[in-house]
Amino acid sequence: MDAIAALVREPNGPFQIEHITIDAPRADEILVRIKAVGICHTDIVVASGALGTPFPAVLGHEGAGIVEAVGASVTKVAVGDKVLMTFNYCGTCVRCKGGDPAYCENFSALNFGCCRSDGSNALHQHDAQLAGNFFGQSSFASLAIASERNVVKVAADADLATLAPLGCGVQTGAGGVIRSLAAKPGSSLVVMGGGAVGLSAVLGGVIAGCATIILIEPRAERRALALSLGAHHAIDPKAGDTAAAVRAILPGGADNIIDTSGNPGAIAAAVTMLAAKGSLGLIGIPNPMDSALTVSILNLMVVGMTIKGITEGDSLPDEFLPQLVAWQKAGKLPIERFIKTYPFAKINEAIEDSHHGHAVKAVLLLD
Ligand SMILES: [Zn+2]
Ligand SMILES: [Zn+2]
Repeated sequence: MDAIAALVREPNGPFQIEHITIDAPRADEILVRIKAVGICHTDIVVASGALGTPFPAVLGHEGAGIVEAVGASVTKVAVGDKVLMTFNYCGTCVRCKGGDPAYCENFSALNFGCCRSDGSNALHQHDAQLAGNFFGQSSFASLAIASERNVVKVAADADLATLAPLGCGVQTGAGGVIRSLAAKPGSSLVVMGGGAVGLSAVLGGVIAGCATIILIEPRAERRALALSLGAHHAIDPKAGDTAAAVRAILPGGADNIIDTSGNPGAIAAAVTMLAAKGSLGLIGIPNPMDSALTVSILNLMVVGMTIKGITEGDSLPDEFLPQLVAWQKAGKLPIERFIKTYPFAKINEAIEDSHHGHAVKAVLLLD
């Protein structure tokens, strides 16, 4: 079948809209006509070549669309269903069977391997194979192949442009607070970084009933946005000693801290902001990638702190995505307030806008 896709031909190259061909779905596969797809920071990192994925590649991992065709053994969804797409997992390893698909033993191969488990690929261009299957979807395209594991059906009247980012960025931020750290009602929360993941963490804190929510973010308009979304304080990290500013609000330290910045200096400072028995959740891709964190072991013990790495907000997509959809519908997760939509052809402009802070969460729309 013919499709159009945003192809990255080389590391740091632009996204080019080109015609490609896509195979019919295999017995266990689902073909989705993409209607909306969010741009996540991971797409940009992978497009830079930093994770060693092959090129030319079709990226995209916050796809949402309508089921176009299903393989013979697919029972979860049917042609015409609206679906959200999310990360892929094997469903059979110890982690998957234990309810932790975000820590699937095959996570890296299934999401970043850019091919099926047998090494083949569904995407081609003039007989050449393209790197596809990114996050089990490669949804920067008009058609994408997924599996039953990484699609979740939504209602026929669901607004896919708003819900597409649930599949990665929003579930990562909100899930980081609600699921990974399991923030308690009345507890305090500090969120570092006010991008889509950070603001989703703020919204997660509101849903969890956190009594004090503080956002640390250099951009003034994002600090203002966070305050309007339910954060109680917003701190500019360029204005001085951030840890002291947090301690001025929370003298005993923060019960929960979520880092979405990936900034090693900010993360080291966060350790000093934790309350006794506090938890620091690390969500942001570290920059540089090989960054290390040095902590005082004695301090760690005395304060009883937890430092936790988090992938995809510890989401169980079949449970958590419908929960997020219901919260969004009820007005408790107003992510539409920080989504900006672009026609698919303007993908490079959308990425530029994201870099410069003009878009918090860019979502591409397809016909
Ligand atoms: Zn697994
Ligand atoms: Zn992502």
